[in-house]
Parts: sequence; C-alpha cells; structure tokens
Amino acid sequence: MISIEQALDTVLARTEAVAGDDCMPVESVVLADSVGRVLRNDVHADADSPPFDRSVRDGFAVVSADVATAPVELEVVGESRAGRSYEGRVASGQCCEIMTGAEVPPGADAVVMVEDTRPAARGRVRILRSVVAGRSIQAAGTECRKGEGVLESGRRIGSGEIGVLASLGYVEVPVSRKPRVAIVSTGDELVDVAQAPGPAQIRNSNGVTLMAQVMEAGGDPVPLGIARDTADDLREKLAEGLRHDVVITSGGVSMGKYDLVEGVLEEQGVEIAFEKVAMKPGKPTVFGWRDRTFVFGLPGNPVSTIVSFQLFVRPLLRRLLHAGTGRGAFLEAALTAPVRCDPDRAACVPARARFEHGEYRIGPVRWMGSSDLVGLARANAYLLVPRRDGELSQGARVDFIPMSSLEEESHER
Ligand code: AMP
Ligand code: MG
Repeated sequence: MISIEQALDTVLARTEAVAGDDCMPVESVVLADSVGRVLRNDVHADADSPPFDRSVRDGFAVVSADVATAPVELEVVGESRAGRSYEGRVASGQCCEIMTGAEVPPGADAVVMVEDTRPAARGRVRILRSVVAGRSIQAAGTECRKGEGVLESGRRIGSGEIGVLASLGYVEVPVSRKPRVAIVSTGDELVDVAQAPGPAQIRNSNGVTLMAQVMEAGGDPVPLGIARDTADDLREKLAEGLRHDVVITSGGVSMGKYDLVEGVLEEQGVEIAFEKVAMKPGKPTVFGWRDRTFVFGLPGNPVSTIVSFQLFVRPLLRRLLHAGTGRGAFLEAALTAPVRCDPDRAACVPARARFEHGEYRIGPVRWMGSSDLVGLARANAYLLVPRRDGELSQGARVDFIPMSSLEEESHER
C-alpha cells in the first residue's frame, strides 16, 4: 500500500503530465467578482506611490532649518490639501498649511503637526516644537516604484489585492477559470438532506461537505446527486461526471459486495493509479484519470471523505488553478500530549491547534472515528501522525493542516 506522500506525488505528477503550464485557462472577471479567485497576471505599479512627497499629518510644511530652535514664528503663504496642491514654493521664514495626504510643496522639507502650533498674528503661525528634516513626510515612491511588481500571478485575490488592483485601474481581472468538479454520492442507504431518514437510512451529508470543500479550494462544484449501488446507476452518473475537469465520488470503494465504483470506473476507461493509501481514516481512496479528467473515488465515511479530499483533491485543485505547487498545505506544531503511532499506516486526525509563545501547539480532540462528524467539528486542524512504531512524546514536532476555523479563531483573539 502506498503512503500519503507517494499518493500525493502520484496525483501531482499526473497533474503536471496532463496540465503542465496550461492547467486552467485564463478568463476575465469584473473587479468586484474577483475575490477568492486566482490572479493570472503579474501586476506592476504604473507610477510611483505615493506620487509625490506626502504629508502624514495635518499641520504646517516648513523649512526644517527655520525651526531648529523653537518656539519660532513663520509666515503662512498658502494651503496644500488633498486634491489641490500649493502651487508656489516655501522659502525660508515661510510655511504652508497642509492636510494629511496632501503634497508637501517644494522648498519645505518637514511638517509640524497642528497640535505643536498656535495661531499667531494675522497670516502667521507660532511653531512650538522643532522638527528634523523629513518629519511627517512620506517620500515619493516609498510604497512602490513605477514598474515594480506588486502582485504576482498565482495569488489568491482578497480584499487587499482588490484594493491594489482598483488603485491601478483594473476594471477586469485575469483569473483562472474554476475547475468544474462533479460530485456523486453513492449508496442505497442515502436520502436527501431535506428528507427524514427511514430505518437503515442516513442523510447524504457527503454531497454538501464535498461541495463546501470544492468551493473553499476555489473550484466550481457540480452536484450530480445520489447514485444507487447498482452498476447501471453508477454508469449513468459517472459518464455524466467524466465530462467535467474532476469527478469525485463518495462511498462504494471498500471491499463490500455493493462497492462497485472502481469496477464501473475501469469499465468507463478510467485508468486507476492507486486504490488504497496506508492511512487512517481514508484507506480506500481511489485515484485515476480518463483523458484530461481526474477521478477520485473517496471513501464513504464522512470524516474519511473530508480527510481524503483535504490530502489529495485540494492540492490537485490548487495546482490546476495555478495557485502554487499543491504542496503548501502543511504547518508544523509541537504536540501538547503524547500520541500513539501505528507501524502500518499514518493517521490524519481531528485536532486543535493554537499559536502560543511563537509556535503552534496541537493535540487531538475527542473523536470516535471516521463516522464522527461531531468530533470533527470540535477540531480546527488535521494532525498528521506518521507511520511508525511506538508513540510521539509531548513536545514532538508534527505536521498539520489548518482548517479555515483556525484562521477564524486567530482573528477572534
Ligand atoms: P461505503 O464505503 O459505501 O460502505 O460507505 C461507508 C459508510 O459511509 C456508510 O456505511 C455510510 O454510513 C457512510 N456514507 C456513505 N456515503 C455517505 C454520504 N453520502 N453521506 C454520509 N455518509 C455516507
Ligand atoms: Mg456504500
């Protein structure tokens, strides 16, 4: 059985072979719709920013040599405000009233903030405190220089990136087309979420968790509903699914009599690269492809489905989107409690991570196994327990994948 690392290598190698440099094509979206999308252009500044020496205070632009000793009185020769600069020059003995964000007029080399001044006789101001050259001035080009790269291709667009794009006049933004990901839930026991399950039935939760994961990863989910555990039904749904960039099924990949997914995939011409990974949960994870379509047969147990997606599907989607190599998911943490290992397979278990004293610390949460979604909801991270003998002691370094809830919590603190 292959390891998690080997399985991920296989997935990414195939992505490289199929997609190479032209994974998802570029499309253009209006600026406001670009949030969450992956930028496909390097963006350069079209001018120095700030474009001129800018005051960061309300006050008076002065010649610093004039105010080397204070208090001192200066003649106020004009006003520079945001949107309208002072046209003249500030000479020795003079100053110019100035507002935050406005251009510092030629001749002046410092700004005295208004709190350090008093109005004097007509047309004059009393400077109460001396300032050195450059005080309260943000020099032209200190944020960025004309032509300098400010955003790189592959960046996920958030509010900050949108602000930069807006300031540079991007009405439309080139982004990766979202990979279309067909989702098929399999199982005779499944009913729709809106339906009350009868005896021996359960609600199809995987359909929506997979949709959510696809959206979080930047893909476009296409839910194809439930396929019953018959070859005919699976054939029909999978044939439809194979028309997309990626197909994900859940369930029907274990060793049971009604686990027919892999057989039907092969029958439809899907080349299977692996069908099991030495991990817990998520062992029966199938990966293959047909032409340019990637196929994942994920296990049915809800937490197994989620974990397998996180380990293998998400990296593929990020790579397809041109958002990095697909390998950036892991962070490192120190264990808060000892954890038992398994010599035969790695584990990926729900855990709580917390940033403390300059590092992440992590420990497993109460969790009853691969069907326990409630236990998963207690977690904010997936802890990777390596395949090996014995146990990892408290303080040992481990890898983990953060959930989006970890980010939420760090904002709350
Ligand atoms: P399977 O591999 O098809 O035997 O599925 C394993 C277990 O996962 C089943 O016994 C169900 O309890 C559960 N399961 C399968 N599919 C779903 C689904 N779509 N939503 C929630 N649970 C599921
Ligand atoms: Mg099943």
